[in-house]
Order: sequence, then C-alpha cells, then structure tokens
Amino acid sequence: MSIGKWLQNHPRLLERAYQFSHWFFKRLNPLISRFGYQRTDRLMRTGEEWSKKIIFDCRMCGQCILHSTGMTCPMTCPKNLRNGPCGGVRANGCCEVIPEMKCIWVEAYERSLDMPVFGPDIIHIQPPVNRQLEGSSAWINMLTEVDKSVPRGWGNG
Ligand code: SF4
Repeated sequence: MSIGKWLQNHPRLLERAYQFSHWFFKRLNPLISRFGYQRTDRLMRTGEEWSKKIIFDCRMCGQCILHSTGMTCPMTCPKNLRNGPCGGVRANGCCEVIPEMKCIWVEAYERSLDMPVFGPDIIHIQPPVNRQLEGSSAWINMLTEVDKSVPRGWGNG
C-alpha cells in the first residue's frame, strides 16, 4: 500500500494536519500579504502540488475542499463531481466509468465518518468548480478568499 493510501485511510490524522496547516497559514497571512499573494503563489505551487499529489492524487483545482470530502479529492472522480456520487455507482461500490476503481464518494463518505471535526461537512453543497483557478495554490486562494467568490457572469450581479 502506498503512503498516500495509508494516510488517506487514517483521515483523523489528516484532519489534524489540515487544522494545523490552516492555523499556520492564517498566522502567516500578514507576512504573505506584505510579500505579495501572487509572488507567494508562484513559490508555493510546486511544493503544494508535489505533496498533495503524493497523498491525495491532487489535480490542483485551486479550491481545495478536502476537509469537507473525507480528505478524498473530488477531482479524482472521473466526472469531477464535487457534490456526491452520480447515479451510476455499482452495487459493489465501484465507479461506473472505471469499474475496477472504488467510487471516490463511497470512500469520501466512509472516511468522513472518522473525522470528528469536519466529517459532518460532507453534506454541505459545494459551488461549481472555477476552472480559472486551476494550477494555482489552494492555500493562497483560501487566504485571499478568491476560492469562495463567484466569477463574474455566474451569479445575478
Ligand atoms: S480538491 Fe483540488 S486542491 Fe484539493 S486535492 Fe483535490 S484537486 Fe487538489
């Protein structure tokens, strides 16, 4: 079993790591803001991609919602679904597109049950993914809150 799979099967550990990272980046925010978000983004991207690829098979969507999805990356779903499974999950819990793969939403749900803090967030409705943020650092987007803003033309305004 790979180190990534092992860690993902211990979501409580990953939840703690997320809590620490969130706290750490929030504390660092004044410094990052002074240095410049764009500049920090350029410095962070490679490390973020590398570390999250190993553990989560991250696709660098730039709007990380791992803590709300059982520390399971929703972008690894062949349909990129961010709000639960499609109607095609097989009776054995596998994906309809890749039959030998377990549905990532089945995994997400099972793992969320072992996450005391963020596990219940799995029922939150996620906005559509903003492809304009693809490739950028999700941590920086969290600090600037661009990951929560709706792009022009999407909403009523
Ligand atoms: S949700 Fe986005 S940023 Fe987070 S692991 Fe998946 S692709 Fe990467």
